[in-house]
Amino acid sequence: MADLFTSEASPETEADFAPVETGVSFENALAAARNGDRLTVEEATELLTTGTDADGIDEGRKRELLRAADARRREVVGDEVTFVANINNNVTTACDVGCLFCNFKDAPREFKSEGGDGFTRTVEESREVAEDARDRGVYEICSVSGLHPALVLDEEHREAVEGTARYTPPDEFTKDPGTYVEQIRAMDDAGLHVHAVTPEEAEHARRGTDLTYRDVYERLADAGLDTVPGTAAEILVDEVRDVICPNKIDTEGWMDAMRGAVDAGLGVTATMMYGHVENARHRALHLKRVRELQDETGGITEFVPLSFVHENTPLGDRGVTGASRAEDELVVAVSRLFLDNIDNIQSSWVKYGDELGARMLDCGANDFMGTLLSEEITKRAGGDHGEFRSFEWYVDTLRDMGRVPVERSTDYEKRRVVDGPPYGPVLGPSADGTPLID
Ligand code: SF4
Repeated sequence: MADLFTSEASPETEADFAPVETGVSFENALAAARNGDRLTVEEATELLTTGTDADGIDEGRKRELLRAADARRREVVGDEVTFVANINNNVTTACDVGCLFCNFKDAPREFKSEGGDGFTRTVEESREVAEDARDRGVYEICSVSGLHPALVLDEEHREAVEGTARYTPPDEFTKDPGTYVEQIRAMDDAGLHVHAVTPEEAEHARRGTDLTYRDVYERLADAGLDTVPGTAAEILVDEVRDVICPNKIDTEGWMDAMRGAVDAGLGVTATMMYGHVENARHRALHLKRVRELQDETGGITEFVPLSFVHENTPLGDRGVTGASRAEDELVVAVSRLFLDNIDNIQSSWVKYGDELGARMLDCGANDFMGTLLSEEITKRAGGDHGEFRSFEWYVDTLRDMGRVPVERSTDYEKRRVVDGPPYGPVLGPSADGTPLID
């Protein structure tokens, strides 16, 4: 069988997973995909590998598969390509969870004195970031942070964890991150759509208590949280999580948190971070969990494949590299064909770069992420695709491809075809069509 995805890792990260065999043929799997049949894990695995009966990726089969995914994209969402005017406001890099794929973290002890590479934003600093973004015309503020030991859900949660090993008082650090509720309220006060608090952060926000995920997300929704990013999903198979993020919530924990967010009335997204130690079957199993969650909740607005950026990460130090271009194309295409209950498949220019990111729009993707006025997570992992893409860049890129540029809201409910020049957002609370940056 073709073992395309096992990395040459050191003993600490050796992932000795069972060989992938499917018992179905590539031709039959492709026929099922073209028919619009609901694909099985075996069929998806076969498509992701262009057949498990030979080593390597078969270019001819790959082309056929990409064509099928592109045709499905056109049937489902047409030729519009959406993007959102957004900014990242990550509150803190303090985290000691130790995920091996992550360089967006600094040991919390480093925050007890000045210096170091990490940062924490106070509630007032987040308010200023949000107000400035609103004044520029931004629609969405996205906030994903490390698990700072002083960060709690609210004052009631602080009382519950005070004096335990899972909490350190903020006065031991040079800067106080406040509480999740205060941070969300500060961002919401600016009138922006707040997209924040991943399942892992929701777990941190209920640590040491018997609060449910729904309880956590209801309190955050009251503070102004609008939607939840379904990151921290990585690969939703515990034998993979045990290697790359053993201290994180497990697959069922992630699923429960997402259910809690939807039960609290919040929209959610879903992601998959691939291209590290997992194999093709793990990717297919992940897609199945996401499809099941959507069958159950109906709350997932988009699926975001995230290609692992390895350069400055512990996995990268151990010789694990990311996915190949062909694997990236296949993951996007199979996501489109497998996830028959999620309309929007995103291409992330932060992970893929401009050229490959645009290419993904011909492989099944229909959303091209957002302007991202500031971005730290991938940059710190060694990503070199920079920060910020202007509306003008989106319009030029998409029109060159014969596609229609469409500004959207986070939940895809509001849309408008971008015309001009000048090219700027109109959906944000202060947006009037002026470009985000002069
Ligand atoms: S991925 Fe998140 S939880 Fe894991 S180490 Fe990085 S910041 Fe911490």
